[in-house]
Amino acid sequence: MKILPNTIITLHEINDPRWLNNVIISLKKNYNIVSVDNLENYYYNNIDLKNACHLTFDDGDLSFYNNVLPLIKKHKIPVSTYVSPLIARENRNFWFQEIRGYNQEKLFEITQKIINDKNRNIQPVAMNPFLKTLQIETILEIIKLYQKETNTPPKPPMNMTKKQLIEIKSSGLVEIGAHTLNHPILINESDESATYEIEKSIDQLSEILNCDTRYFVYPNGDYGEREINILKKKGIKLAFSIKRGKISQLNNTYCIPRSGSPFVSPSIRNRSPYIYSKCILMLILGEEKYYHYATSKGWLTSFINNIQLKTYERFL
Ligand SMILES: [Zn+2]
Repeated sequence: MKILPNTIITLHEINDPRWLNNVIISLKKNYNIVSVDNLENYYYNNIDLKNACHLTFDDGDLSFYNNVLPLIKKHKIPVSTYVSPLIARENRNFWFQEIRGYNQEKLFEITQKIINDKNRNIQPVAMNPFLKTLQIETILEIIKLYQKETNTPPKPPMNMTKKQLIEIKSSGLVEIGAHTLNHPILINESDESATYEIEKSIDQLSEILNCDTRYFVYPNGDYGEREINILKKKGIKLAFSIKRGKISQLNNTYCIPRSGSPFVSPSIRNRSPYIYSKCILMLILGEEKYYHYATSKGWLTSFINNIQLKTYERFL
């Protein structure tokens, strides 16, 4: 086995189990797949990790239950997932799931009406990033008004229920951490709201699972000193960011770096799951130059044309 840097991977919804299966097979060839407990021991009890890789799944999408759980059982690998106990209990969607497919101009118009700020320079084509500059209360208000004015019903639930969370936890392979209640961009929130979103998510998740919540992921990767202090007070041991970086015992345990998967449309992923799994592995291995290909338009062509592919074929 080659010596590879320890790594933690960020994943979200998994719509193509064949793709994940490829990734797991490749990872198992090259890494020891470790649990989040192993990471805690690494940081707190000085227990070293070699060629270690940990898989994290953010948001608690239903595809975890349908596609990920059978695969991790098949491969017997531990993973962790970060969810909202409120979303699970009420069986509903996060704001960013609810606005998918919304008419951007209408959403823009409603946003203008609610925030009542004509001076803001926003583009109706990019409402999701703009909404990320607002407080969660305002975002939820915008969605409510959009649904009312356009007669749009809430989307069918896309996330795991409370019962499913209990079931995945009982598999013994899944550790579940908190991810706030409503997925706000924490740095936009008031002290009161940030504290509420974090503390309640930890308390409610502990109650559902009947055990202490020890791990946390910041929504959208945004945090500050204030968020770290709230987590410390609540007894959280590890909190993960989405910043890329080297895993080392010197990491701040409240902003541990992770290697991420860039957003690639499901159509590309489904057309070329094998190529995509290779690409993701390169990203995981910290090949920054491939990150550019993967995140830019036409990355697939650049990637396939790149002669370096040969080198990695050997690796895979
Ligand atoms: Zn998230």
